[in-house]
Amino acid sequence: MKAIVCGAGIAGLAVANRLDAHGWDVVVLEQFPGPRGQGYMIDFFGPGYDAAEAMGLLPRLRELGYPISEASFVDESGRVRASLGFHRFANALGGDLISVLRPDLELALRESLPERVDVLYNARLTDVTDNAAHSVRVTLADGRSLDADLLIGADGIHSRVRREVFGPEDDFLRYLGFHTAAFTFADPDVHAAVQGGFHLTDSIGAQMGLYGLRGGRVAVFAVHRTSDPTLPVDARTAVRDAYAGLGWLVPRALQLCPPSDEIFYDQVAQSVLPCWRRGRTVLLGDAANAVSLLAGQGASLAMGGAFVLAEHLASAADVEEALQRYEQEWRPVAEERQQAARRSAHWFLPENRAMLHVRRAALRLSALPGVDRLIGSTISGKPTPVVRRHTGLTRDCRPL
Ligand SMILES: Cc1cc2nc3c(=O)[nH]c(=O)nc-3n(C[C@H](O)[C@H](O)[C@H](O)COP(=O)(O)OP(=O)(O)OC[C@H]3O[C@@H](n4cnc5c(N)ncnc54)[C@H](O)[C@@H]3O)c2cc1C
Repeated sequence: MKAIVCGAGIAGLAVANRLDAHGWDVVVLEQFPGPRGQGYMIDFFGPGYDAAEAMGLLPRLRELGYPISEASFVDESGRVRASLGFHRFANALGGDLISVLRPDLELALRESLPERVDVLYNARLTDVTDNAAHSVRVTLADGRSLDADLLIGADGIHSRVRREVFGPEDDFLRYLGFHTAAFTFADPDVHAAVQGGFHLTDSIGAQMGLYGLRGGRVAVFAVHRTSDPTLPVDARTAVRDAYAGLGWLVPRALQLCPPSDEIFYDQVAQSVLPCWRRGRTVLLGDAANAVSLLAGQGASLAMGGAFVLAEHLASAADVEEALQRYEQEWRPVAEERQQAARRSAHWFLPENRAMLHVRRAALRLSALPGVDRLIGSTISGKPTPVVRRHTGLTRDCRPL
């Protein structure tokens, strides 16, 4: 059986790995000329962690990961107003947590692919002809066309596969009221000030977080509220405008902000579809069920979902049955995370001074003994045994 996977992101590379392991012939299409360097730190835990363990990726991910001691919220003068010990969160997850840059997670997945899996760069899918009975044909921007038994749309929140097969993006994206940006720069003083921890501005309406990377670089993660989902033409100008009012190290970060094509910039949204499969096409990862950065688990769900989809394709009687079983099993997991993310939209970034005080008080309370379990369940949501059931890993899903 042959699968075309559109997108060499986390979902696409993970499903390529698993399908290859089950004897499928796999081609991965990626629109960019090579691996994307743009990135942000991912807290990797939950179902994707279970999948990574079963795929033997944990040692490499630990090598690539970063030890983060705590998340602290600092005011405009740099004074810490509240903090959250990261070890408490990690403890609540039984230690099953790795902080890793998104491009490094993709690197580990790429390294895990055998050479026989074709990853085609500069291969932008533009059209899909689904012959529902038994095959699908995709056309690329350069005019090439490829045929397969199955097309997996793992092409992210703005999925082209979804647009071609299921309908226009506006029908399926639920905007959550924020824009987000991420970029890196080098500066020895800022690096020294933020190394070892995740430092966030304790601010209203717009928040910037900084952390030190290896090699003296600093990574920036920024999020701000706006009722308008429209993306700016010039990301650097938009970032400089949106965060100009913040103090501490932010003015320096804005000064060193790279050109727009080196900035990750997007709206914060969720993909919500009544059905993830049509004929011989199926959606996976953010294309199907983006949960948004508010859930902090999109990468984990992308990888967990990839594992589950591949297991069903390997064990079901036919492709149709496999796709149906995948959606039946995975949809409740993704929807639970989407709901939790929507609930957290109020406190994630305070809207006013009163909310800022509430968040500070909540973080102070979190220092009390026993509260780490509550923190863990609030951040990570309901633990799910779904991936573990497929992996054959024997350890139980820890109750939080
Ligand atoms: C700021 C931020 C912080 C986050 N933090 C976390 C976190 O802490 N923990 C966590 O688990 N998740 C986190 N996430 C979410 C996570 O990054 C995403 O959910 C995850 O990357 C989704 O993976 P994916 O493979 O589905 O999509 P993507 O990573 O978007 O990959 C899609 C790929 O498809 C390619 N593509 C698109 N269109 C085409 C086309 N037409 N033809 C060919 N290729 C195409 C793209 O170039 C891309 O490489 C965060 C997200 C953001 C924005």
